[in-house]
Amino acid sequence: MSSQAKTSMITQEDEDHVREGMEKIRWISGPECPRCGSAFASPCKEKKPMPYRCRACRLHFSVRTGTVLAESRLPLTTWVQAIQTLTESQQETTFSTFSRRLGVSRKSARSLAERILQAWKGFQRVATIHKELDCAQPAAQLEVVPPIDASPEDVLRVVLGCEMHSPVPIPTVGVAMNAVPVSSPLAWSKKLSTTDAQRETSGGLVPYLRLTKSKLPPSEDFQTFFRQKMFFDQDWKPGSFGRELNIEKCKVIFDVTFRGVALGKVACELTHGPNRWQSNNTPNTWLHWPKKLKDLLELNDLSGSQVSITRSSSGLFALALGR
Ligand SMILES: [Zn+2]
Repeated sequence: MSSQAKTSMITQEDEDHVREGMEKIRWISGPECPRCGSAFASPCKEKKPMPYRCRACRLHFSVRTGTVLAESRLPLTTWVQAIQTLTESQQETTFSTFSRRLGVSRKSARSLAERILQAWKGFQRVATIHKELDCAQPAAQLEVVPPIDASPEDVLRVVLGCEMHSPVPIPTVGVAMNAVPVSSPLAWSKKLSTTDAQRETSGGLVPYLRLTKSKLPPSEDFQTFFRQKMFFDQDWKPGSFGRELNIEKCKVIFDVTFRGVALGKVACELTHGPNRWQSNNTPNTWLHWPKKLKDLLELNDLSGSQVSITRSSSGLFALALGR
């Protein structure tokens, strides 16, 4: 069998199969809008190149959207074959060999190699702190395609813009001075006010959730409970928010459910100002809605519904909005 014109031999079935595989890699819990992060996407069969439509921001998108694959017209199968060729070859490949193997023009082969290498090097640069990589030369200046020393799955994940386990060790989490170690699960809940639920109020939209006293036991001081118990071991850093200069911030990963629908892991920023209560009569700790949740709240009126935050005994967080 000739190695030429492989592209023309790719069937729709192959392509659908590869697309489904890529979607699973990119979106573990179903399609997610690349623009607003909403998990509510409807399939739209009539728009062939863009199989999904975001119900929050109406963007039509595909697994290519927002990745280096977006401007390419080459089949996804060819991309996967290119990644396999780059990771499987132990040595440099000439562009003509590369193009013959993939059954695409030399120009397409070069552009494919360049984009894959660029994505991979970008990832490597982030992952490598100490040394400049010797492969930092742009592919455009290369006469041959260098091999990539990684698995095709890892390269595909990087090309699709997925987060990878970094080879750099994760810094140890700083524990607050007077933190109380928690072993038993913790829970907090409140009824969403119209402001919390992102409804228009006379005071304007406040894009965060104030972590009030609500149903905490009387023994708990809600001004310090969140900073020193619930989220005591998160990576708090000094920062500012608007005009507030001396606050602390951290990112917390929550397993989110929205009206009973699991949305998967969502990172939310928390801010803590030790004097908020004293100076403005507002709780000291706030949870800032990420765009994904803010959009959902704007679309679905949850005022009067419950919001709850729980911390498991192993320190995992869940955020449930509405029932
Ligand atoms: Zn969207």
